[in-house]
Amino acid sequence: MKIIDILNSKEVTLSYEVFPPKKDMPFEPIVAAVDKLCMDKPDFMSVTYGAGGGIGHNTIKIADHVQNDLGVTSLAHLTCISSTKEQVAEAIEGIKAAGIENILALRGDIPADFQGTTTCDFRYASDLVREIKKHGDFCIGAACYPEGHTECEHKADDIRHLKEKVDAGVDFLTTQMFFDNNMLYNFLYRIREKGITVPVIAGIMPVTNGKQIARSCQLSGAELPARFKAIVDKFGDNPEAMKQAGIAYATDQIIDLIANGVRGIHIYTMNKPDVAQSIRNNLSHIIGSDRK
Ligand SMILES: Cc1cc2nc3c(=O)[nH]c(=O)nc-3n(C[C@H](O)[C@H](O)[C@H](O)COP(=O)(O)OP(=O)(O)OC[C@H]3O[C@@H](n4cnc5c(N)ncnc54)[C@H](O)[C@@H]3O)c2cc1C
Repeated sequence: MKIIDILNSKEVTLSYEVFPPKKDMPFEPIVAAVDKLCMDKPDFMSVTYGAGGGIGHNTIKIADHVQNDLGVTSLAHLTCISSTKEQVAEAIEGIKAAGIENILALRGDIPADFQGTTTCDFRYASDLVREIKKHGDFCIGAACYPEGHTECEHKADDIRHLKEKVDAGVDFLTTQMFFDNNMLYNFLYRIREKGITVPVIAGIMPVTNGKQIARSCQLSGAELPARFKAIVDKFGDNPEAMKQAGIAYATDQIIDLIANGVRGIHIYTMNKPDVAQSIRNNLSHIIGSDRK
């Protein structure tokens, strides 16, 4: 099923995310985590790209398992900056052959040895969106950044680039993680003003490891509000307490988002079924219980 049809037909959607095994790593533990996550019947499951190397065989394998063995709609991520046109075409055809109708079109992070525009077939995610459209009738998602993408100095330019990307053929957007909902509300106001009307799914990261959060924020450009900093300061060295506090914070964020009319919630579940299920249980009467 196309994700845009799910988004248009439900009051609130809840989706999860998994990452495939790294090259030559065993599949079994990841498949076990994916199987447990799918027992929650998320509206769709996104499968990240990049950990597997090559052209994303592992992404396609896991996305295929999610959709065809577990009956949950898959969203296969695909990056382009480090791939040739032929490699991208092969990946898209692999996704199509698995019966997956949804692709999250991403540029990917720029590799340290990147040589510039003359040596790569795809410079921006919008180039990939145009390429995917040539291969068939896919539902195409793309990334957006409520606090601005780290490489773009001015938010207004970032939103202008986002508009170009959406106009290239994007059906929906998923946000980078954020910890202050006001960032999302401001962003939504600004993009709607600029004519970006596609659904925006809010990406929520449950922080369960106090030590990793500083690095994640540095990479993603997400600000930590004082309220969250206090939680990490207090519980960061106590893994069980941090996990409980991280789940509570993410739950709070989601309740506020839904109360303010946000209809798409995506949890960066990071192959952790216990964390996803705790949040899901906290929302059992808030998001329709018909999934179980
Ligand atoms: C929801 C989500 C999922 C992700 N999943 C993955 C994943 O599975 N694997 C992975 O490796 N990474 C993933 N990423 C990370 C992503 O690859 C990086 O954030 C990357 O740096 C940017 O990708 P993009 O698709 O947003 O790029 P783009 O949309 O191409 O934007 C990248 C930068 O280029 C600028 N730009 C765009 N168009 C133009 C233009 N015409 N002229 C000048 N500047 C321009 C933008 O303002 C921005 O600063 C994900 C990110 C998000 C938010």
